[in-house]
Amino acid sequence: MRFVHATLPQRIRFASGAAAAGVRAEVERLDARRVMVIAADAERVLADEIVADLPVALRHDEVLMHVPVDVAERARAAAAAHEADVIVSIGGGSTTGLAKAVALTTGLPIVAVPTTYAGSEATDVWGLTENSVKTTGRDPRVLPVAIVYDTSLTLTLPVELSVASGLNALAHCVDSLWAPRADPINAALAVEGVRALNLGLPGVARNPSGLDGRERALYGAYLSAVAFASAGSGLHHKICHVLGGMYNLPHAQTHAVVLPYVLAFNAPNAPDADRRLAEVFGAGNGLAGLQALRATLDAPTALRDYGFAEADLPDAVEAVLKSVPEDNPTKATADNLAVMLHAAWEGSEPA
Ligand code: NAD
Repeated sequence: MRFVHATLPQRIRFASGAAAAGVRAEVERLDARRVMVIAADAERVLADEIVADLPVALRHDEVLMHVPVDVAERARAAAAAHEADVIVSIGGGSTTGLAKAVALTTGLPIVAVPTTYAGSEATDVWGLTENSVKTTGRDPRVLPVAIVYDTSLTLTLPVELSVASGLNALAHCVDSLWAPRADPINAALAVEGVRALNLGLPGVARNPSGLDGRERALYGAYLSAVAFASAGSGLHHKICHVLGGMYNLPHAQTHAVVLPYVLAFNAPNAPDADRRLAEVFGAGNGLAGLQALRATLDAPTALRDYGFAEADLPDAVEAVLKSVPEDNPTKATADNLAVMLHAAWEGSEPA
């Protein structure tokens, strides 16, 4: 074995029903006096309770998916105008993403309170979108200093969105197995993430108002993001990144649809990854395990259901081809990518 592995510095609090106390403790730890709260209008009620006892300098609720640059600029200006000294972000990946955009230029620390399984809170990756092009980068300033996981905050996440978001987390795990910085440590985290999600998500679908499945799913989502942050973006993330930025497709659903196609594409040339997935799913191979899970979850199946037009396929293929990681297990060409993306567009059986 020969590898170099970096572990990101971050405090994690995991306790259902304890978000307010956890955030308060983290803000006090930072000795912060002027809190910028970022929470979308949809998460206002959740946020109200969490921030009630904090020294709030401003509330910011302009949150948009994929963080458009002008939205980021307005949030940065608001942080400066109110002399914020910490950001508390409460919401899904879009909300965390906006907090990261502010941290990127201001250096403000973030205390992240996630309400989906997107996992952005555990990565040092930021993303900004301008003129339909999504740019991402890594910067230690955007890694939240602390994450406060409170499973009860996810109880309101509808089953359909929970499933899509959970499969987004599962995609972090799977892609980590062949991403550019894949190593045995992030593979171990990824496999434990798959185990937790494979147990948790069916529990969420069966009993959406129970904490059990959701706790496992949230724990799995965290592991998945740590694995992804460490291993980097593999082919799956590159595809979803292009589709999300160019066509404004919904993030979680896009990941949920594309994952089995990328797994089918790479598995024949990634036997170790496939063996690990087969083992953890308890299936003959990784794809069979993934598809069995997806069937129990009634998972999203086709990109055309989410606003992706067949006419956009050639441009999408061209853009994806430019961003394929060099050491992707299966060599990508315009032809095989076109076949894969067409199948994902129409939702046919991944092969
Ligand atoms: P999102 O944050 O856009 O949320 C999706 C919807 O769910 C929104 O309408 C939101 O209001 C709602 N919602 C969130 N929590 C809820 C709850 N508990 N109950 C009810 N409704 C709730 O979507 P997402 O999938 O969480 O995040 C997607 C974004 O995150 C994308 O922009 C993606 O690029 C980014 N992301 C970044 C990273 C990273 O490492 N930088 C990792 C994963 C995702």
